[in-house]
Amino acid sequence: MIRLWMQCTTKEISEMDKGNALVIVPIGAVEQHGAHLPVGTDTIILNRLMEGLASRSEFPGHNVMIAPVIPIGKSNEHSDYPGTLSFSTPTVMVMLRDLCASIRRHGFDRFIFVNSHGGNTDLLNVVSRDLRIELDAEFFVFDWWFTSFWNDILAESQESGAYGVFHACELETSLMLAIRPELVDMAKAEDEYPDPHLTDNRHVSIKGPIIPGWKTSDVSNKGVIGAPTKANPDKGARFLDYAVAKLGDMLTEVLNVRYRKA
Ligand SMILES: [Zn+2]
Repeated sequence: MIRLWMQCTTKEISEMDKGNALVIVPIGAVEQHGAHLPVGTDTIILNRLMEGLASRSEFPGHNVMIAPVIPIGKSNEHSDYPGTLSFSTPTVMVMLRDLCASIRRHGFDRFIFVNSHGGNTDLLNVVSRDLRIELDAEFFVFDWWFTSFWNDILAESQESGAYGVFHACELETSLMLAIRPELVDMAKAEDEYPDPHLTDNRHVSIKGPIIPGWKTSDVSNKGVIGAPTKANPDKGARFLDYAVAKLGDMLTEVLNVRYRKA
């Protein structure tokens, strides 16, 4: 079973079997996405993914709860661009701790952060370990930006090259063309690749192994990193179906993996 936290009654939550439960804590971002996409792109995509998951995945024998989507994350790397909203790192950490402590208080002890914004990733990894200890609960982080999550479908569908999928890019623009096409202005889409001074070195690169503490205006003039001109709605629909199905499969594995010793 999968339920939205916001739509359950207090009695339903009280009586729910927590032994086989998992709480999804979704977190997105509000930040500039170039001239062609709205600032809410990450959270709009995340909301659609959660809707897709709730309607297509059943998880028999388990109770999967989707906590309210946190629409704003840590986006200070985009602060130079109008429209960006960001909490500071300590604020996000405290907010997540308070939210998860509330959920823990009601008996749930397994959590997964589902994240749609690369700028949240490092922080979520730190928080998940802190809360593993502080709340004596299991924590997982799902992040699609710095993992292999999209690799299979990108191998089939990506038309851009290196750095073509990064920010306001072929992937995100395609997803938005499938989800909210009226919010995308493809006439304003322009490809932009990161400045070579942060990519074309032997060791120092925004993909590592020596990673600079960069902000977006260090690597991009217009706020795009990638190739939005390669986006189209058909590709976006395929990306979306892939993401919903793959996330469902991954959550099934999470439901069956216990890492705390009894
Ligand atoms: Zn984004």
